Amino acid sequence: MPLTALDIYKILPKTNCGECGFPTCLAFAMQLATKKAAIDACPYASDDAKATLAGAAAPPIRLVTIGPQDCSIGIGKETVLFRHEETFYHPPPIAVRVTTDRPPEDLREALARVRALEFERVGQALRVEIVALEDAAGEPERFAAAATSAAEAGFVLMLMSETPAVLDAAAARMRQDRPLLYAATEDNWQAVAQVAKTHKCPLAVRGRNLVALADLTARIAAQGVTDLVLDSGARDHAATLQGLTQIRRLALRKMFRPLGYPALAFVTARHPLDQVMQGTAYIGKYAALLVTGELEPWQALALVTARQNIYTDPQKPIQVEAGIHTVGTPDEASPVLVTTNFSLTYFTVEGDAEASRAPAWIVVVNTEGQSVMTAWAADKFNAETIAKAIQESGIADRVTHRRAVIPGGVAAISGKLEDLSGWQILVGPRESAGLPAFLRAQWKQAGVAA
Ligand code: SF4
Repeated sequence: MPLTALDIYKILPKTNCGECGFPTCLAFAMQLATKKAAIDACPYASDDAKATLAGAAAPPIRLVTIGPQDCSIGIGKETVLFRHEETFYHPPPIAVRVTTDRPPEDLREALARVRALEFERVGQALRVEIVALEDAAGEPERFAAAATSAAEAGFVLMLMSETPAVLDAAAARMRQDRPLLYAATEDNWQAVAQVAKTHKCPLAVRGRNLVALADLTARIAAQGVTDLVLDSGARDHAATLQGLTQIRRLALRKMFRPLGYPALAFVTARHPLDQVMQGTAYIGKYAALLVTGELEPWQALALVTARQNIYTDPQKPIQVEAGIHTVGTPDEASPVLVTTNFSLTYFTVEGDAEASRAPAWIVVVNTEGQSVMTAWAADKFNAETIAKAIQESGIADRVTHRRAVIPGGVAAISGKLEDLSGWQILVGPRESAGLPAFLRAQWKQAGVAA
């Protein structure tokens, strides 16, 4: 729990000397509690008081970075239980497990399959980010060689072994790469924590249950290793979700420091569809890192899409730039389509226009990231805003005709829009999937009629 003014007052000198700029220690404490003053203003505050305040000011869930500096991935530092309260900040990376007890050529092929799990959706590049190398042979040199070649291939790494010597051999070779070491347990924590400390690597900690896990993290943090990632030890679906939820609640609601770290989850389902459903559930609540077996591209696409949706700020929809966009290489006779700057809407329209195989112009209206019908209801996609967008975009200089297609959902504004813009307005299909057929038939017909 955050410190109250009274909590803070109790650790101040209570001499009311006024040197902090406030008449009494209690007045100063009240300012500290609301973060309107800093403890440094009191020259007599003890080191203990400063440490207590610094600890209270730390985020309830620590931000842990994995990977080399130029492409590190931050996980944790979430502030809310529910996305609509604020937003979720750090999308959980997906780590694909690859065992190292295989010939180098097989390993290269497995890494290439992970590398291929890259997609583009609504203008954003989405991918599987981490390779979780799994030591199956217990041979330090072999594991270190595999880790080195995966790091050279550009992967951020999670190194999985419970043998400290194996982790040490790999981490020693790749200190700059900051791999996540997995895992410290009740049996090996002292040696593994020492490896993490020596090589400055983040460390995953696995407990038998949450009580044992909290005990372990407290002991490891006391050794000076504080970049920790939690594994509740649960492997079945319900227990994993329960563990993730309890960790998040205890960290945020109770400020329970021993569990104030990002938590990972393992996808353990066997059926490919179940794996996707399980992974999606963990992404929603509250995995900071998702560890899976090898994924088919369709599985990876489903997971990164779910992640993208959940981790998009609900108050700041993904937007494209307003103005003129092109499909193919349009010319002066090409169709002009009008839509909003909500990315999902724009890229759907763009994809459907592409499917018509005819180049086109798209005039994007700034609706502050709202979709067609939402923007129409909010009066941001109306005759005035569209007429203004057509005029300001300069599309009239790019085409010789004066015909534009608006979405079928806003057909009611077509007349007024014609009056305001001076353009002939064609009412397009309600769903952009109908664009190819519409452009083939209606656009050409309108051209003949004009
Ligand atoms: Fe109290 Fe420190 Fe302020 Fe003096 S400077 S009034 S001791 S808080």
